[in-house]
Amino acid sequence: MGETCFTFEEYCDDLGPIKIVHLYEPSCGLRGIVAVDNVACGPSIGGVRMAPDVSTREVFRLARAMTLKNAAAGLPHGGGKAGIVADPQTSDKARLIRAFARAIRDLVEYIPGPDMGTDETCMGWIHDEINRAVGLPRVFGGIPLDEIGATGYGLAECAEVAAPACNLAIKSAAVAIEGFGNVGKHAARYLEDKGARLVAASDSQGTIYDPAGIPVVALIEAKAASGSVLGYAKGRKLGKDEIFGLPCDILIPAARPDCIHKDNVETIQAKLILQGANIPATPEAETRLHQRGVLNIPDFIANAGGVICASVEYHGGNEAQAFQNISEKIRRNAHEMLNRSQKEGIEPRKAAVELARERVRHAMAFRSCG
Ligand code: NAD
Repeated sequence: MGETCFTFEEYCDDLGPIKIVHLYEPSCGLRGIVAVDNVACGPSIGGVRMAPDVSTREVFRLARAMTLKNAAAGLPHGGGKAGIVADPQTSDKARLIRAFARAIRDLVEYIPGPDMGTDETCMGWIHDEINRAVGLPRVFGGIPLDEIGATGYGLAECAEVAAPACNLAIKSAAVAIEGFGNVGKHAARYLEDKGARLVAASDSQGTIYDPAGIPVVALIEAKAASGSVLGYAKGRKLGKDEIFGLPCDILIPAARPDCIHKDNVETIQAKLILQGANIPATPEAETRLHQRGVLNIPDFIANAGGVICASVEYHGGNEAQAFQNISEKIRRNAHEMLNRSQKEGIEPRKAAVELARERVRHAMAFRSCG
């Protein structure tokens, strides 16, 4: 997996992780990782990421992000995450997912959901094997969070709260989206509904850029037909990493971790960054963005829409309740975080981490360790 062995010193602190499990099933070549970070607020919820290079370190960091996200959103759930080391395009996907489900049958502190490389069909297979998954297809009473764009909706709601703090009007704002997938395309769609203009979008094959504006539905259709945003007929075609330096007001990284780093942070022209992906910027880059006056809303505040929706589903709610919950919780948290960040003169992430950690510690105080 291209990384050194687990050490307690590297990962463990006052919150967790309580379990890091490696899974291996020789009959089908399943290689999986599950990190259960903290369950003080309830059983952990977090996505299953399928990628050829997913690592234990990445899965743990994402599980911690889920602990903070679920606590910040006030959900009765702790944080966990899983990784399956495989190409999501593999023809063996159903077999691997089903083997993964059977391997976590007894790991009841972890409730799997969709993430990069997995979707509601995968959750349907897991549900069939072990009857424990969120983000299920409608046929199982699920609220298909990627189909309705729960996370993208939350990002657009968050944008409305954050924009005034950096003197931006959403109406007429130019938006660039790195990773035009489930999160990115719906964020673009909901922001367009609020009057913003999509000027750039990227995927694993490249970037499409048109300062005059790209109609979101046309881009969704072009990507569906050709497999990439580069299939869109108009605009300039650029390399996938060029999106970070393009002129825009709002930048939404919605693909892989650490894509904003020391080598591209100075090129960013956006006034507002909404983190659609989990951990899309290195800590050094975040500090630099703050110094440069770029308002950078951290992942676990901005992209909580998906897990809020999953929690509503898990507790028997419907789609309308999910949208209402997402809007209320994300708006309230964004306000609280911005107020604390401004009052204490600290980075938004630091303010959000303080808020979330206070909530987890409060929940931990009710627990006995035996
Ligand atoms: P997805 O697989 O639907 O979409 C990812 C998109 O990113 C694809 O279009 C892919 O081509 C593109 N991509 C991959 N590598 C890229 C690169 N190097 N440069 C540019 N684009 C690249 O995944 P998703 O569900 O949209 O998730 C995206 C991110 O958002 C992940 O970090 C995930 O953890 C996070 N997230 C997802 C949800 C959700 O509800 N799906 C919720 C919270 C956070």
